Amino acid sequence: MKQVHNFSAGPGILPKDVLEQASKACLDFDGLGLSLLEISHRSKNFERVMDASRELVKTLLNVGSDYEVLFLGGGASLQFGMVPLNLLSETGVAAYVNTGVWSTKAIAEAQRVGKVEVIASSEAERFSYIPSGYTIPERADYLHITSNNTIYGTQFQNFPECSIPLVCDMSSDIFSRPINASAFDLIYAGAQKNMGPAGCTMVLVKKHVVGKTGRKLLSMLDYQVHIKGGSMYNTPPVFPIYVSYLTLSWLKAQGGIAWIDALNQKKADLLYAEIDRNTLFTGTARNDSRSRMNVCFLLQQQQLESTFDNLCKEAGISGIRGHRDVGGYRASLYNALPVSSVQALIDVMQHLENQFA
Ligand SMILES: *Cc1c(COP(=O)(O)O)cnc(C)c1O
Repeated sequence: MKQVHNFSAGPGILPKDVLEQASKACLDFDGLGLSLLEISHRSKNFERVMDASRELVKTLLNVGSDYEVLFLGGGASLQFGMVPLNLLSETGVAAYVNTGVWSTKAIAEAQRVGKVEVIASSEAERFSYIPSGYTIPERADYLHITSNNTIYGTQFQNFPECSIPLVCDMSSDIFSRPINASAFDLIYAGAQKNMGPAGCTMVLVKKHVVGKTGRKLLSMLDYQVHIKGGSMYNTPPVFPIYVSYLTLSWLKAQGGIAWIDALNQKKADLLYAEIDRNTLFTGTARNDSRSRMNVCFLLQQQQLESTFDNLCKEAGISGIRGHRDVGGYRASLYNALPVSSVQALIDVMQHLENQFA
């Protein structure tokens, strides 16, 4: 098989070992002679997976028993609605920081539920930075932020200090760097960026923040129902959960968050250094807001794009075209991407410079 360097923004790269183990479990899970896909989610074997996955999340994020871990369907996009439904009271207001398309969608959903105040936004500068210096309204029911903006390549370098509940969409940088998870009341992340395949969303929720709005909810939209059901109120997305379990186990075995933090730093440093050095390329995010997960950049001479694309293709570099809304290039450096793939991309960038600069 040809070696491919997978820079896809999502669904993104997963460790080879994980894919191999997942393939095996599709045919024979735990030596049962049955596929993982054809057994009960209430079987001992799957319950072990669910328990271990929830425990792994807590261990890797270093949170205690005041938190619950859920694996829900519906993508991160469903959380855009579930968060306000469960946390925004009828007479209250929710505060949002708008840092991109995903934040904008989260805001739009919250507006369908209740009152929203956008307290800071970088929209006027095409979401090229993370705002700072805003005031968080103390009367708000919660503050919602998006830690990493997958489309624009910006990332919170530190998080707002907050006396109200703090909610964060961490879909594209969960488990990529050390965070003080206990400072958050709710974190959600679609699995398909940095944790597993599409189909499940991890929700880490502090138990005491839910159940206060008095709103009557459909069971499936109620965090309390899912908490009570141990994330098995209904049939959970068993396969995405299993693959996420494998990925989290892989991460822990390799050395956990400290290990991946150093690796992710190295990959991002290498690529940003090349973008800054190479006369053909420019980065699009402001330096103090640069993401270590999604590195967005432009070729200054647009007419070189097809040459660059062809060189990338020859080198097995896949998935670096920018999001359709912004164009240019985006290299996603998720946890499973090796340093050697970043080096392969840098080699092509230098090759292009040698030919055309
Ligand atoms: C991809 C992404 C989403 C949307 O996730 P879905 O699972 O497709 O709903 C939301 N937020 C962020 C930050 C993302 O990167």
